[in-house]
Amino acid sequence: MGSDCGLSCALPFLDKTEGRLARAVIDKIELAKRLVSYDTTSRNSNLALIEFVRDYLDGYGIKSELVFDEAGGKANLYATVGPQDKSGILLSGHTDVVPIDDQDWHTDPFQLTEKEDRLYGRGSSDMKGFIATVLSLVPVLVQRDLRTPIHLAFSYDEEVGCLGVRRLIDLLAGRPNRPRLCIIGEPTMMQTGVSHKGKHTWRCQVHGHEAHSSLVHQGVNAIEAAAELIARLKEMARRKRDHGPFDPDFQPPYSTIHTGVIQGGTALNIVPRECTFDFEIRPLPGEDIEPMIAELRELAETRLLPEMRAVRPDTGITIEERSAAPALSTPEDAEVTQLVAALSGANVTVKVPFGTEGGLFSAAGIPSIICGPGSIDQAHKPDEFVALEQIARCEAFLQRLIDRVSQR
Ligand SMILES: [Zn+2]
Repeated sequence: MGSDCGLSCALPFLDKTEGRLARAVIDKIELAKRLVSYDTTSRNSNLALIEFVRDYLDGYGIKSELVFDEAGGKANLYATVGPQDKSGILLSGHTDVVPIDDQDWHTDPFQLTEKEDRLYGRGSSDMKGFIATVLSLVPVLVQRDLRTPIHLAFSYDEEVGCLGVRRLIDLLAGRPNRPRLCIIGEPTMMQTGVSHKGKHTWRCQVHGHEAHSSLVHQGVNAIEAAAELIARLKEMARRKRDHGPFDPDFQPPYSTIHTGVIQGGTALNIVPRECTFDFEIRPLPGEDIEPMIAELRELAETRLLPEMRAVRPDTGITIEERSAAPALSTPEDAEVTQLVAALSGANVTVKVPFGTEGGLFSAAGIPSIICGPGSIDQAHKPDEFVALEQIARCEAFLQRLIDRVSQR
């Protein structure tokens, strides 16, 4: 337990003289309000939120480790409650949120608003409601004599390709006391999510050659080359849709390929020199994306580039991976699946439609399950909310977890 001063410093909105009593009133809703008030859109720093959490934990005598990004403007927070030398159970959440740009909100997205048994605000379901619920149980955790530690990991830049957590995972990978298993509190309506597709993002840049559009034979049209590559991606996507492989538990039940952004050209009467497009592949667990990329490269190398270079040798095509978040497929009989199923009381597992950091944790030898309050249907949208009933279910779930890891 930390000193009252530590706590008051951590939570300046509390009266310092309230002391111990004050702890009881910092409930999960207050914590969620505080977390939502930080605009941690992925393009921003998350440090104010991380420092708040660090100070809050410090108030209970829990030391945090911050793992910063290269520029020092963002950080993951990692902390262990209970025996420091043992491998325990990791509760993991990301602190960043998606932008509110061009979204029509009826409440202030960064001011958590309670209305009709729901909490509205950006990140309420994805996933500050979960983090707040976890933090609200820290006073309970520190009073228990834990035989298995509870680790906390709060990451940055999840929404932009699970980028931030990689540094933390790298750090943990070499430690003998790294977490034994991981529960990721992404919104599943507290169902046991065992599996999701992977998500790989790629950028293709076509470098052609400019010419007057009346003299097309002297130019190399970057947009047209890009269009052929995109058309091939679409063809591959159709093949996946029509011929599989299929997994009926996913929606849609096949791997998907899609082009989402394209830029190129300057004026209609100029043969365009540059064209860039971004595409993503979301493979089913177990499906290798390499053959898809190889097919695209083959089209570039055997058909497009010879034609382009016959006009101008200095033209080119680059196809580069931007991010790779592996699929998740945790077996039904894994310890973590059994644990989460027992805690949630649900005897069926689900496959979730969205990607998470779970694929990375699992790939690093920390088997993971997705289980958290709220629904993905309410995330990323205007008027994002989490139902109070979901927060209560999450709290009960975590209480059962604490009972299980406590010494009796
Ligand atoms: Zn999320």
